[in-house]
Amino acid sequence: MRKYRASQLNRLLACPPSHREGELEIREDTEIARTGSALHHAMEIWVSEGKALDAVDLAKEFNVSDADEIAMLFKFGLQLWDELKDYFPEPKTEVGFEAQLADDVILTGHMDLVSVSGKSEPRVLDYKSGWVKQWPVEQLKGYALGAAAAFSATKATVVVANLRDGSYDARTFETDELKAFGRKVIAAARAVDQDKYEVGDHCTFCPLSHSCPARGALVRSSVNALSDMTTDTIAGIADDGKLAEMRMVISSVEKAVKIVKEGIRDLTIARGVVDLGNGKELFMQDYELKGILPLKAWPILKEHLSREQLAGAIIIKVTAVQDAVAANTSGGKGAACAAILDVLDKVEAIKRTKHKRIQTRKRVENAEEK
Ligand code: SF4
Repeated sequence: MRKYRASQLNRLLACPPSHREGELEIREDTEIARTGSALHHAMEIWVSEGKALDAVDLAKEFNVSDADEIAMLFKFGLQLWDELKDYFPEPKTEVGFEAQLADDVILTGHMDLVSVSGKSEPRVLDYKSGWVKQWPVEQLKGYALGAAAAFSATKATVVVANLRDGSYDARTFETDELKAFGRKVIAAARAVDQDKYEVGDHCTFCPLSHSCPARGALVRSSVNALSDMTTDTIAGIADDGKLAEMRMVISSVEKAVKIVKEGIRDLTIARGVVDLGNGKELFMQDYELKGILPLKAWPILKEHLSREQLAGAIIIKVTAVQDAVAANTSGGKGAACAAILDVLDKVEAIKRTKHKRIQTRKRVENAEEK
């Protein structure tokens, strides 16, 4: 009997051997993952107990360095829940499921929130706190399949709430679609022991990627190719598929470099000094970062600095202002925060800086290309 997690179905379906048992699995404990855990916990407590947890306490508990980010994401979470809560009557939080798809295949999972009221189908709410905007539909279908089985229904709706921008997407999966999907999952589960590896984007979070023969071969040949690359040769690449391959290789190399760097750091901490054999050695250096506490410093600084100089030395965080406004407001915290930001915006007290980053999204086919 084998169990497969709904959150990993896209990888199971794309590359069944990635779920092979008995292989050494390496799972990464990342800041993004810990931030996600903190947010899920905060939302669970808010929905089930109506209590807002403190972002600084959450950051400490979940070992996250940026409490402001937790505060910002939690705020989006509260606004989203305000919008969505009528769609989720009598919500249950943190509900696990085990759905027997076949004699030898069980689908497991964990729903952040589920609502089954009256005769309606299960409605699942899934919080996402990462940067990825497009979630594999297989994952959502997995939750729908698990929820339908857990509540003896034949169809289900999954709502993905994106805590990074306050948006959400809802999809209802009908009976026939879920049945066909269940059959695909069973087929993939039974192909786990066949050597049919498929390299692709799904490799990024594969716990077997360090030992995977297919990925290893691709990375080795690609690293050689990367070492000859310049911005000019990249600009001249005509095959866009080549860029996708290069991005995957870069992520593998970055992962490997991170593991080695952390290993060297741990070794240096353990030994105190590491002799590099070339007349140099590694050691851990203590250093201090200074910050000025505004309340204590204010009376002194205002004697020595002009208003403009003081303003230039101070950064007011939007999330800290929102925290304070929310703390001073009993109901409608989201609206109160939005109102004060609106007023600040009107007097041009909000500074905006624009940045660009590479994002991946699902391609929308141009009607003329069809
Ligand atoms: S690294 Fe990629 S190709 Fe290799 S087992 Fe994992 S998903 Fe499959």
